[in-house]
Amino acid sequence: MAYKITDGCIGCGACEGTCPVGAISNDGSVCVIDADTCIECGACAGACPTDSIKLD
Ligand code: SF4
Ligand code: SF4
Repeated sequence: MAYKITDGCIGCGACEGTCPVGAISNDGSVCVIDADTCIECGACAGACPTDSIKLD
């Protein structure tokens, strides 16, 4: 299990810097989480203005 960025992402980038293990990257229009790297801390979910990061 890992956190996942859903369709509500507007690519603002606010989540990227919150990840302690660097699991979030920006593909140009939206951000994505590498499920193998995510340690499920939840920090990114709290930073998202559109509430688009959910535990998958
Ligand atoms: S839940 Fe934590 S480890 Fe996983 S992507 Fe978000 S900030 Fe990174
Ligand atoms: S903070 Fe939310 S809206 Fe902004 S890039 Fe991350 S997932 Fe997308």
